[in-house]
Amino acid sequence: MQRFDRSSHCGKVTEQLLGQDVSVAGWVHRRRDHGGLIFVDLRDRSGLLQVVFNPDFSNDAHAFAHALRSEFVIWAKGKVVRRSTETINKDMATGSLELQVEQLKILSKSKTPPFAIDELSSQVDEELRLKYRYIDLRREEMQQRIALRNKVIFLMREFLHHDGFYDIETPVLTKNTPEGAREFIVPSRISHGSFYALPQSPQIYKQLLMAGGMEKYYQVARCFRDEDLRADRQPEFTQLDMEMSFVEEGDIQDMIERMFVHLYKHLYNQDLQIPLPRMTYDEAFTKYGSDKPDLRFGIDIRDCTAWFTGTELKFIKAVLDKNGKVGALHIPENSYKFSRSELVNWVDKAMELGAKGLVWMRLTDDGKLESPIGNFLSDDFVSQMKKTFPELQNGSVVFLIAGKYTEAWTLLGRLRLRLAKELNLIPADSGFHLSWVTDFPLFDHDEETGGWTSTHHPFTSPQANWENQTPGEMKARAYDLICNGVELGGGSIRIYDADVQSRVFDLLGISKEDAQKRFGFLLESQLYGFPPLGGIALGLDRLVMLLSGANSIREVIAFPKTARGYDPLMDSPTTVTSEQLLEYGLATVKKPVNK
Ligand code: ASP
Repeated sequence: MQRFDRSSHCGKVTEQLLGQDVSVAGWVHRRRDHGGLIFVDLRDRSGLLQVVFNPDFSNDAHAFAHALRSEFVIWAKGKVVRRSTETINKDMATGSLELQVEQLKILSKSKTPPFAIDELSSQVDEELRLKYRYIDLRREEMQQRIALRNKVIFLMREFLHHDGFYDIETPVLTKNTPEGAREFIVPSRISHGSFYALPQSPQIYKQLLMAGGMEKYYQVARCFRDEDLRADRQPEFTQLDMEMSFVEEGDIQDMIERMFVHLYKHLYNQDLQIPLPRMTYDEAFTKYGSDKPDLRFGIDIRDCTAWFTGTELKFIKAVLDKNGKVGALHIPENSYKFSRSELVNWVDKAMELGAKGLVWMRLTDDGKLESPIGNFLSDDFVSQMKKTFPELQNGSVVFLIAGKYTEAWTLLGRLRLRLAKELNLIPADSGFHLSWVTDFPLFDHDEETGGWTSTHHPFTSPQANWENQTPGEMKARAYDLICNGVELGGGSIRIYDADVQSRVFDLLGISKEDAQKRFGFLLESQLYGFPPLGGIALGLDRLVMLLSGANSIREVIAFPKTARGYDPLMDSPTTVTSEQLLEYGLATVKKPVNK
């Protein structure tokens, strides 16, 4: 049997191999040609090893080594020896050893790479990195990220397997499922005019798997969403998708928490404290102006509408007359000391975030109130402020935004994050702050159509007593897992009763006919003994991004598209020939201008 002669990986050469013959293979990371001696840092997935070409050990290998250049792939065999004391490299795992090469083979040559392998990613144009992703992936940073991704997925699979889950694949060629996003469609060659859709998630299939008695399902699932790309979205991404039968919210949440305990233990040797903190959607929004609050720092929004009862300030009066509210954030003096010009600048910053204005107030060091609206405030204003912010001290600053509740609070939420970022309010050692947000609204109001859309998806079960509520009041049995202000995943307890499902479709404005056409199979399945069920999906790219400290999901995906959905490596998407179009019964038309 022919086998590749490789007795060790570069980074795995240890003192135990001293004096032994070892064969290694890899890429020429760095080469230093001193004429008499040639040193090469040889790199493979495990790390680096210094290999030395010395005419005293092998004239041939030494002569041959002059030709070596960066990124050549070579094979070398020789003896492991200790380096002389002055040449020991403490930064390298194998830094006290080297290989005295006796045989060398060049397995493949390399042109000068478009960027150096030890260059930082931030120094290389991203599109260039993606065009030559196979070179980019050789960089240590990328090797570590992909290794971490592999480890995270392995640990999740390990946990789920031991917890009784089946890994089940669901189709990629499927029918459209209404989860809010636009879908990629795939024309059928056999049935012209018919299209498959690529799944936004395996949502309906996983529900049907529960109807099929599988009880516990998971999948590392590729999901596709043809959305207008926002900064850190990918048209295809990966979810860890899960579903269970005979469960309530607590069962799903407990399973996820135990999975994170397993991850923490094996990634960091830490004991994650569970249960994780929980907060309702209403509480999250009232306190943080967001459904995914970043809880690594303490600032919260407080309602200070009452401070302005009977105010003569026109812009606030106008807001209050329309039942609007005034909300405020408090930055204590010991967190940050603003200069006056900084305070003025924050007005512009708030406007960049979409606010119509921002009012600042500061207690001076001798306890006086300083504010652009100071003249309009009563003498006992500070004591009012202290009722809302008992922790208010001299030097403290309060920022206020007035408006419609949801709008003002959303802006305060954004301002809170920007303040945290720019004033460095997030402690560097705050780690990962996992928590649940629960009790979401079942529906969102669509201002344009006046109708309702699902906050999660239409298969989410409403909470008890929904029959007696207006759509705006109904709450969902849904939950999101949040980490450091990022939504890591979300799920819900599902509807499994055809009648409830039909009524929800009805509230969403989906006609009976349409519902039959699109979801008849699901409604029918609910007539043949459907178990109660629930599930969740975690965004795997996002999770690995957070764990690795990368600043984009593109950094943890082997072959991502650019932020504009383009693949510079393969140059896709691309046109197809007119013959191909004909085979599919398709013709392309130019997009009308101005539409
Ligand atoms: N399918 C949902 C999503 O992709 C997750 C779930 O409800 O399990 O967000």
